[in-house]
Amino acid sequence: MVSDGTLTPIALAQRAQKNGVELWSLTDHDEVGGQAQAKASAKSLGLSYLTGVEISVTFAHKTVHIVGLGFDDEDPLIQSGLLATRGGREKRAREMSDQLAKVGIPNCFEGALNFAGNPELISRTHFARHLVESGVCSDTNEVFKNYLTEGKPGFIEHRWASLKDAVHWITASKGMAIIAHPGRYGFTPTEEFAFMSEFKAHGGQGIEVVTGSHTPDEYIKYADVALEFDFAASRGSDFHSPNESRIDLGSLPWLPGKLKPVWELLEHRIQ
Ligand code: AMP
Ligand code: MN
Repeated sequence: MVSDGTLTPIALAQRAQKNGVELWSLTDHDEVGGQAQAKASAKSLGLSYLTGVEISVTFAHKTVHIVGLGFDDEDPLIQSGLLATRGGREKRAREMSDQLAKVGIPNCFEGALNFAGNPELISRTHFARHLVESGVCSDTNEVFKNYLTEGKPGFIEHRWASLKDAVHWITASKGMAIIAHPGRYGFTPTEEFAFMSEFKAHGGQGIEVVTGSHTPDEYIKYADVALEFDFAASRGSDFHSPNESRIDLGSLPWLPGKLKPVWELLEHRIQ
């Protein structure tokens, strides 16, 4: 609810528990404002919890996401870093709206803002929901495909945090930095190798292997990458909303057995 999910932390915690989740983390984009509620919700249900965030990073002209788990969400360094990262969202959203107006779809900023509530947190997902509600597209995937991805009218290139800063904010506040859904970035093999190597050199330790954004073939590919780089492996649903997400909480397959799970290294940070 503080970024682009539709459920409140307590509703998510209840859903996680009902689906048999044993350890949960709420990972809003660029924001830790939901952590206190998520922690309290998990505690009230007896569910184990790790603090979480998903930081937007620009690497090789692409946007990638770095997940932080188990950090201290009250640490001023990560809070100020995330505040600066969020700072560009409103300007970018206004530019996206201007571009969409040029192709005959006016007032998208206002429409998306209705879904976001706060301009600081406005995201492409809110534009997608607005364009579905106003009948331009029939679902959010179609909006991304036709309007919000590179080369499409509503796409605005944006500079997010640097990889080095994002990893540093997480590790300096006692957390672990993890590459989110690497299969989604469309890197060439050379770019991908550079990304993994730089991430590791900055102190990154984990990689998502099993996620709602990967195909079963990608589970296998990134299990091999985890072994090659000696990364711990993570498993995350990327669940945003009951209507939009392909994968529900607690329904992904297990990690391949040969991998070292991130939660084993984060045991001391579990609440
Ligand atoms: P933003 O941070 O504003 O760039 O928006 C990122 C959000 O867009 C994330 O929550 C993603 O889940 C969602 N997203 C990105 N690409 C797609 C896509 N191709 N289809 C559906 N959702 C997407
Ligand atoms: Mn993501």
